[in-house]
Amino acid sequence: RAKADGRGLSRGFEPEMDLALRERRALQQDLATALSRNELFLHWMPQADTKTGEINGFEALARWKHPVRGVVPPIMFIPVAEETAAIVQIGEWVLRTACREGMRWPKPGKVAVNLSPVQFQHGDIVQLVHSILLETGLPAERLELEITEGVLLDDLSGALNTLRRLKALGVQIAMDDFGTGYSSLSYLQAFPFDRIKIDASFIQTLSTSPQAKAIVRAVVALGASLDMPITAEGVETPEQRAFLAELNCEEIQGYLVGRPSPVVSFESPFIKQRMRAAG
Ligand code: C2E
Ligand code: MG
Ligand code: MG
Ligand code: MG
Repeated sequence: RAKADGRGLSRGFEPEMDLALRERRALQQDLATALSRNELFLHWMPQADTKTGEINGFEALARWKHPVRGVVPPIMFIPVAEETAAIVQIGEWVLRTACREGMRWPKPGKVAVNLSPVQFQHGDIVQLVHSILLETGLPAERLELEITEGVLLDDLSGALNTLRRLKALGVQIAMDDFGTGYSSLSYLQAFPFDRIKIDASFIQTLSTSPQAKAIVRAVVALGASLDMPITAEGVETPEQRAFLAELNCEEIQGYLVGRPSPVVSFESPFIKQRMRAAG
């Protein structure tokens, strides 16, 4: 009797854990119907030429409008979707929607889409990309797939083979969040990425950390010698942009260029500024 009570109590003693678990389960259940209820939509974040400010394209960022919770950020629902493999359907929806919307833009800019490692493990991602390009009519060279090193972690040779087949379709492959993982350098040796995206954490500490400055300088130099253009993520200030421009870092993305938005605008904030200054 006492034992049974004890067990009952000990469960009650971990309310936070129960809550976190229940939260995840609730999110997982709601996610299962999110697609069929049309609760997902895309935000677009501009990517600009560091020096001229010209908008090169936009990254698609998934958003979930939960009927009760409001807009749930991707850091909360993507990991949950990865656990149940719901990300496979969600990722397919993101890819198709991004290519479709990209076809309606006023200019043929780059359409950047994030892929989850789970999408590499389930189903044929190469076949999927191929059929979505055919279905939407988006030229392959306009599509840039952003992958993190998570894709390469457990089956390196399988992942490399998939990446090569994707590249053979004519799409671009970018290494996302560069510098935050464990063996990013060996991946650069193993695969000819079309772009490296330096993680925002390095950019956001540029003004306070000499180490971050040294690392960013070195990564931009590495990109130049490997013939892989660099995108700096999380650029928020003119000082950060000036530093990156001086290093000849090709592209920037961040609040300075534009916030994620449901509509795309190819009007560059810098070009407007310079015209104002000149006029
Ligand atoms: P990510 O691919 O590295 O995307 C960049 C994230 O950093 C976005 O957050 C963006 O809004 C944010 N960001 C960019 N510039 C700035 C800046 O200047 N300041 C600040 N404070 N934030 C900035 P978001 O939209 O919350 O996405 C977070 C992550 O969720 C993404 O990181 C990506 O890993 C994942 N994600 C988003 N959409 C998808 C998707 O469709 N599929 C997959 N697999 N993952 C996605
Ligand atoms: Mg990304
Ligand atoms: Mg990133
Ligand atoms: Mg990220």
